[in-house]
Amino acid sequence: MRRIYLDHNATTPPPPAVSEAMQPYLGPEFGNPSSIHSFGRRTKAALERAREKTARLLGAEAGEIVFTSSGTESINWALIGGARARRDQGRRIITTQIEHPAVLESCGYLEREGFEVIYLPVDNTGLVLLDKFKEAVTLETILISIAHANNVVGTIQPIAELREFISHKNILFHTDAVQSTGKIPVDVNELGVDLLSFSGHKLYGPKGIGGLYVRRGKGLPPFLHGGAQEQGRRAGTENVAGAVGLGKACELAGEKLAADVLYLRRLARTLWENLQGRIPNISLNGHATERLPGTLNISFGAGDGASLVRRLDLEGIAVSSGPACKAGASEPSTVLLYRSPGNGVGARADTERHPDQSWPGEYGRRGRGGGGSLRETSWMLTKIHLIPICNQYIQISYRCYRCFGLSQAETTKGVCFPWHFRLETSRKIKKNQR
Ligand code: PLP
Repeated sequence: MRRIYLDHNATTPPPPAVSEAMQPYLGPEFGNPSSIHSFGRRTKAALERAREKTARLLGAEAGEIVFTSSGTESINWALIGGARARRDQGRRIITTQIEHPAVLESCGYLEREGFEVIYLPVDNTGLVLLDKFKEAVTLETILISIAHANNVVGTIQPIAELREFISHKNILFHTDAVQSTGKIPVDVNELGVDLLSFSGHKLYGPKGIGGLYVRRGKGLPPFLHGGAQEQGRRAGTENVAGAVGLGKACELAGEKLAADVLYLRRLARTLWENLQGRIPNISLNGHATERLPGTLNISFGAGDGASLVRRLDLEGIAVSSGPACKAGASEPSTVLLYRSPGNGVGARADTERHPDQSWPGEYGRRGRGGGGSLRETSWMLTKIHLIPICNQYIQISYRCYRCFGLSQAETTKGVCFPWHFRLETSRKIKKNQR
């Protein structure tokens, strides 16, 4: 069976050029980059070349890039390290309700350490509500973390504008750019951020390697303690092969970025127009234009997302119904749970005060009276308000076929042929529900 992979927000396949670049560092070039003999010097040089390539994609200086094991590690370091380092200046951290679990769980951890976390609401396209953002910033605020592009609906936040608002304040600004790096232009100076997290496997690089951009002069204490690797900022012998693969992936992304954005946008538009023409009662989640070019997040009228994903998989089509790290959960993604068409959702949860509203006025991680977990809050929302609205959706994130040197014709085949499977699948689901 021909298999079609449409789940590139979960992970991306490294093209041969990336695997080939890594190959020597998985075998003959095995030296420890901290060793001063020739074996070590060669791997150290490869590591530094990879750092330069990575920095170039982000518009950063090589010395501002620290390699980590993943986007998750970078985010944990930025948030937990950043907050602890500024503990004496204040206790308030600002983020949004639709962040990746790496951010939300780090924030939960910080709440347990005594920090106050504000979870900003978003509008029904996934954009942060600017007035709520401005209201939330106080003298107590020490850290802000807002994802550049959302991993579920693909909405791109106006990071530069948000950063501009706090430009005269001594607040550390982190953005989780795991989904945007390599997919849209990401320039640390244009965004104005102090810290930026990224991950190799989301941009056609290998898994097990990520990085954190740390703006020069913005001190961030080490998160892992041990040796003096990464200029004493992150202990542990470096993943040289992974870094080399990431460097190559960044180089390729930089070369093809502008063309790929246009190309993926066209593919996404074609796919969406075809789906709309053939399947009734579907709607697109996220922002119409401020969205990752290869991300389509679609709600269907009825049914359940997990079974749709399974049925499509039986037909050879890989899509997802939420973040890969939450796969298997039967609830809708928290990102969609927080979607709000009117007044938006806020930083505090109190379902009991809003029993009649179809969309809650104020919800957040704190749960009833403060202290409920996101999972409990989500479940509450699912039961009360949201099952009829967004219980079935799939997320489609295209692979960029150009990375593999395929022709347009082959690409079109890969993306457009599955229509009948989709129609068939949705018919089957409907029949089963009758
Ligand atoms: N942040 C976002 C927005 C993501 O989509 C992901 C992965 O899905 C992560 C962080 C975590 O990255 P990693 O898988 O490298 O730990």
